[in-house]
Amino acid sequence: MQERMQQRREAGSVATHFPEVANIVMNMTYNQRGAKSILRTFNFTPNNYAFFMINCLRKDCVDGGFDLTQVITAMIRNRRVEAKGALICEGNDPSVNHSDIVYEVAIQYT
Ligand SMILES: [Zn+2]
Repeated sequence: MQERMQQRREAGSVATHFPEVANIVMNMTYNQRGAKSILRTFNFTPNNYAFFMINCLRKDCVDGGFDLTQVITAMIRNRRVEAKGALICEGNDPSVNHSDIVYEVAIQYT
């Protein structure tokens, strides 16, 4: 957790990295094995850190999460406004594929 906070600070702001971006909205369905699906929404404005790692909600998940950095940087490079996809948790957990997300990203440009 400490390390992640550090990474976030070092990421810098959205405005610094992507001055053309006005807003990023990530909507996702978080599915955890044996639990109810959860809808999660993340909103990024230019003042937010450009850190697009979503945490896994499973308690015993180690180093898990969903990294949308590649998705978002590729979208911005191509000036795409929408993208959809799915990711599996990267965590080291005894049960493989214990969680995944199905996401939709929408980006507004200045
Ligand atoms: Zn996990």
